[in-house]
Amino acid sequence: MTSLTRLFTTIDVAADRGLEVPCVREDEGLWFSDDPRDIERAKTLCQRCAVRHECLTGATERGDTGVWGAELLERGRISNRRVLRKARSSPE
Ligand code: SF4
Repeated sequence: MTSLTRLFTTIDVAADRGLEVPCVREDEGLWFSDDPRDIERAKTLCQRCAVRHECLTGATERGDTGVWGAELLERGRISNRRVLRKARSSPE
């Protein structure tokens, strides 16, 4: 079972038990937005998530980018920036 599959299973179990998992019911675009207001909103929502620590641990292991576990990650590293760095396109 991959880390992401394990996280989705954990989220499903938590949600089935009525525990708070905000990204299940909110617009998931908030967690991957380039807008600093969306990023702050996602981080705030994550604060009350029942699986926050598992989420952050898995995302750092996978090298994910976006808001996970109430932190903004860039390739698995916690970023202190308020926006995601845009990926540069390679010249053709
Ligand atoms: S910590 Fe945030 S991104 Fe992770 S499962 Fe909870 S609400 Fe979703």
